[in-house]
Amino acid sequence: MSHLFQYMAFLWSYISTFLSSQSNAHPTLQVSVPVARSFIESVTEKAVGTDVIRGVQPEQQLVKVVNDELVQLMGGEVSDLVFAKTGPTVILLAGLQGVGKTTVCAKLAFYLKKMGKSCMLVAADVYRPAAIDQLTILGKKVGVPVYSEGTEAKPSEIAKNGLKEAKSKKTDVVIVDTAGRLQVDKAMMNELKEVKKAVKPTEILLVVDAMTGQEAAALVGAFNVEIGITGAILTKLDGDSRGGAALSIKEVSGKPIKFIGRGERVEDLEPFYPDRMAQRILGMGDVLSFVEQAQQVMNQEDAEELQKKIMSAKFNFNDFLKQTKAIAQMGSFSRIIGMIPGMNKVTPAQIREAEKNVKFMESMINVMTADERERPELLAESRERRRRVAKDAGKTEQQVPLSFRRHLI
Ligand code: GDP
Ligand code: MG
Repeated sequence: MSHLFQYMAFLWSYISTFLSSQSNAHPTLQVSVPVARSFIESVTEKAVGTDVIRGVQPEQQLVKVVNDELVQLMGGEVSDLVFAKTGPTVILLAGLQGVGKTTVCAKLAFYLKKMGKSCMLVAADVYRPAAIDQLTILGKKVGVPVYSEGTEAKPSEIAKNGLKEAKSKKTDVVIVDTAGRLQVDKAMMNELKEVKKAVKPTEILLVVDAMTGQEAAALVGAFNVEIGITGAILTKLDGDSRGGAALSIKEVSGKPIKFIGRGERVEDLEPFYPDRMAQRILGMGDVLSFVEQAQQVMNQEDAEELQKKIMSAKFNFNDFLKQTKAIAQMGSFSRIIGMIPGMNKVTPAQIREAEKNVKFMESMINVMTADERERPELLAESRERRRRVAKDAGKTEQQVPLSFRRHLI
């Protein structure tokens, strides 16, 4: 089964090569490297150990393995909010600036109100008067009281007094809005620790912007070590992002994502379903038919040979031509790209550019000597050779890349 990965990995990297120079970046899955590595390892292990079931296509089995692993990685099941056994439940929201904490306050209040719970919002972001105004307006919109003491008081004091007030009014849930910074910093963490000490929250939810890419793991790790989160909320999933941050959160902190935000309105909050998220991550292209077609044009030995060459960096221009031919047999670039997850947002202009790049490479390879095709380093080493290739292919010398390796794998 593992050869299926080889097809996909190769085709993916092949096409990426010709798209990577495009400035208009298409959304790809951004995942922290250690998380991606351990994920690939566990999928490979499962896939290799899986017997092919009769009557089921191996590639369908493969997609299922990947899907199941993704669901597991994200916690498997829906995780509900935890409520305090006695007295008000305190939910503390933490996160960087602009990720959507204040918006989440209102969204959660709206959500909890529908469940029949009474709520109070506490304005503990004291750095900008506008932050308190924003929370006050949102509170009005959802019809819940907002406790604030202006910008002079300490956040931990505000939170403590807010909780006192909520107790006296027998409010079910107190949601504390806090200040974020552009980056993780000591002052923010200390302030959160003080608030935590003052109100002993039932839930400490880290709000994470779904656009957060590779840095998600470090971010979640830092907040979890410093303040000990109980879960996370992933916001802005209505955008282009594929939500790779979702994969890091559980893996790094051991804590589940509890909700997702899908827009700016107070109604745009939903419980987090790991299986739906897995579909979002996987299901953007027709993975199955893609793998199937790849299988038809390359036999297994070819793929393994190719993989070995890529690993040992001996991929030469002959291999390139062979693969270009194999890929051409699968159909046009636009058709192939439409089948690869994460690449279906590539614009027609980008596809034309990618096709042009392939043609451009071919025209140069066509005028190379057999030696040069075997050993791409000859071109890198000799200006004379590059000049000759450029002239014979009808290009300028500057158009001939100094190092072809970058263009090969
Ligand atoms: P905070 O600094 O963490 O409190 O972030 P805010 O709650 O003030 O939100 C920052 C911006 O992101 C605001 O313009 C929000 O309207 C917007 N925002 C928050 N959540 C979402 C979401 O789920 N989707 C979209 N598209 N925008 C959001
Ligand atoms: Mg805010």
